[in-house]
Amino acid sequence: SRILGIEGTAWCASAAVHDTATDETVIESDAYEPDSGGIHPREAAEHMREAIPRVVRTAREQAERMASDGEPAIDAVAFSRGPGLGPCLRIVATAARALSLSLDVPLVGVNHMIAHLEIGRHESGFRSPVCLNASGANAHLLGYRGGRYRILGETMDTGVGNAIDKFTRHLGWSHPGGPKVEERAKAGEYVPLPYVVKGMDFSFSGIMSAAKQAVDDGVPVEDVCFSLQETIFAMLTEVSERALSLTGAEELVLGGGVGQNARLREMLATMCETRGATFHAPESRFLRDNAGMIAVLGARMYEAGDTIPVSESAIDSDFRPNQVNVTWDAGGDV
Ligand code: ATP
Repeated sequence: SRILGIEGTAWCASAAVHDTATDETVIESDAYEPDSGGIHPREAAEHMREAIPRVVRTAREQAERMASDGEPAIDAVAFSRGPGLGPCLRIVATAARALSLSLDVPLVGVNHMIAHLEIGRHESGFRSPVCLNASGANAHLLGYRGGRYRILGETMDTGVGNAIDKFTRHLGWSHPGGPKVEERAKAGEYVPLPYVVKGMDFSFSGIMSAAKQAVDDGVPVEDVCFSLQETIFAMLTEVSERALSLTGAEELVLGGGVGQNARLREMLATMCETRGATFHAPESRFLRDNAGMIAVLGARMYEAGDTIPVSESAIDSDFRPNQVNVTWDAGGDV
């Protein structure tokens, strides 16, 4: 089947087509870049309204190209139902409902966080991984058991990308901050920063305040960037290792925009290698927000008959991954 996916939970207006027969996924994205500060929900929604029709048009053209003569180009429309910014989600849901009705194809409502990790499972072929989602607004470890993704551990305050972005906002750097911190960290040396892991949960607020203070106190910004990465990523690596250890899983999958960071990937890969586990990080286009992951999971859900009528397609800006009743083959329990 061929699924058209639409993503728009925050900054990225994106549409994609996934063809299950060829495993081809084509993604068309249009990023919102704030003039100053972080993501403004109203501006992000205006960007969605303007960009979604354009990216959907391109994705539809790609679907037509993939279709053989006489075959319908699109079998179902999948969209990110949450979590995310309400004003953005509403625009995406409206576009998805309109397309589903006008093409007369089923509608599939996808949880954005599960899409972040299922793409890694799809690419790697892992059966029972633990999944680390290191995205902008979230940070958590998930494992699959008894028909649901369970949250094994998570941030007690902000998401990991948002924490880094808040630090760079303090420095007056433009959004997003993650890639800039990665670049500046290359020339840095270690200075101590707070390290907060409580069991399987972790917190970023203390370390962010300390990092801002260090810069204000005159510690070289390269050193703070380096130490910020070392500390935050060590925390994420520690909880990932604990999750592998406690569940007995032997596979780790990474998801989310912060997963594009080479140092995080290196630390996770080293940890996995040391304990004889296998590690998979998807390619960058599938890590940051993108509709490809919505189309890929949308296809699994569609093929499992997991579609929704328009009347039951309300968005959920707080949609937690463990609320999803998994209907598709999500591997085995960990
Ligand atoms: P969510 O997926 O949780 O709704 P989001 O939409 O903000 O959040 P993503 O697209 O997954 O998230 O990730 C965006 C985040 O990734 C931003 O905070 C950005 O700073 C961060 N990021 C991007 N590249 C890098 C990098 N190389 N190193 C660290 N962080 C990065």
